[in-house]
Amino acid sequence: MFGKNKKLKPENHLGEELDVQEIFPTLQGEGPYVGQPATFIRLGGCNLACEFCDTEFESYKKIPLKKILAKAKKLNKKLVVITGGEPMRQPIERLCEELVKMGFLVQIETNGTIFRKLNPEVKIICSPKITKGKYHQIRPDLLSRIDAFKFIISKSSKDYRDVGDVGQGRAQVPVYVQPMDEYDKAKNRANLKHAVKLCGEHGYFLSLQTHKILGIR
Ligand code: SF4
Repeated sequence: MFGKNKKLKPENHLGEELDVQEIFPTLQGEGPYVGQPATFIRLGGCNLACEFCDTEFESYKKIPLKKILAKAKKLNKKLVVITGGEPMRQPIERLCEELVKMGFLVQIETNGTIFRKLNPEVKIICSPKITKGKYHQIRPDLLSRIDAFKFIISKSSKDYRDVGDVGQGRAQVPVYVQPMDEYDKAKNRANLKHAVKLCGEHGYFLSLQTHKILGIR
């Protein structure tokens, strides 16, 4: 985290067990499904290392698919959010398939740099990321599957000041802008003001980290 994590390559296997950081019930705090009760499945490891990343995803354990599904069934929230780290780094095809079969609404939060052919009912929210001052273009095969983009915005960073062109113009899907949490009140206030301005100017939607406002995880 904070750009210090080891970058891990995508894995290809049958997905009978996955690297899992944690599974917990909460409210979805961000993006299009904000406020909905959800089971979060946070998978371990990421293929990128973003400087602002404040998520812990490196102390994961291998958990059999059956156990992950049993936990989701027990928590029984309509929405299941598969996040990370980078969830597409691991073969999550079967996990998604089974969760859809069980009647859950499945949402993936991805950085858009890895493609996997997932059940068409799975909702994909893409938050594009920057490496060495440049946005990663979204994989063309993933682009047509994306349901919404979420850009992290910082007024003080020239890299994160605006919504980059990652191919979203072709995708014609909603764009959310979310003020970056820089752990600095003045910077965060400026980021919020700037994000609101971008929404007004371009028709983007504002996404706030409501779980942080509420003090839940
Ligand atoms: S892509 Fe996401 S999870 Fe990975 S390092 Fe960047 S912000 Fe963190």
